[in-house]
Amino acid sequence: MTANDFFSNVLATPGNTGNAVGSAVTSANVEKLPGLNTLGVSVSRIDYAPWGVNPPHVHPRATEVIFVLQGSLDVGFVTTANRLYARIVCAGEVFVFPRGLVHYQRNNGGGPAAVLSAFDSQLPGTQPVAEALFGASPPVPTDVLARSFQIDGGLVEAIKSKFPPK
Ligand code: MN
Repeated sequence: MTANDFFSNVLATPGNTGNAVGSAVTSANVEKLPGLNTLGVSVSRIDYAPWGVNPPHVHPRATEVIFVLQGSLDVGFVTTANRLYARIVCAGEVFVFPRGLVHYQRNNGGGPAAVLSAFDSQLPGTQPVAEALFGASPPVPTDVLARSFQIDGGLVEAIKSKFPPK
């Protein structure tokens, strides 16, 4: 090991938010920062274009605390009782997303926004809800999704087309 195993500049550069959802997550987890191994923490930055969304997702292995660096965000999570806890969070403020719950953020301002995210895992894992269901490889059967969402198969296929398998 050297000092560089405990160092990263990966968070120094804003992520490219020029994508369909208008946000970018840059992670300093154990894959980028080997010195985190066994330590149970990691950190990310999230950048948002105006009105950009970090789509609903879960972290199976971590609670997340965001600290707003710039801008103003609508944030929320949904409990296992299906209750939404949501509010506005502004620069200098923090908000907690408890482990394993579906959560999201949206930049509610006309300028860029950014947050620092802290996790109690060296590798929190991220599962975006829409991609998990509509972009899995091999695909989740269309009839399963049609019945589950109570919509027709054509609409399921239309949504799947937005999430081509990687
Ligand atoms: Mn998150």
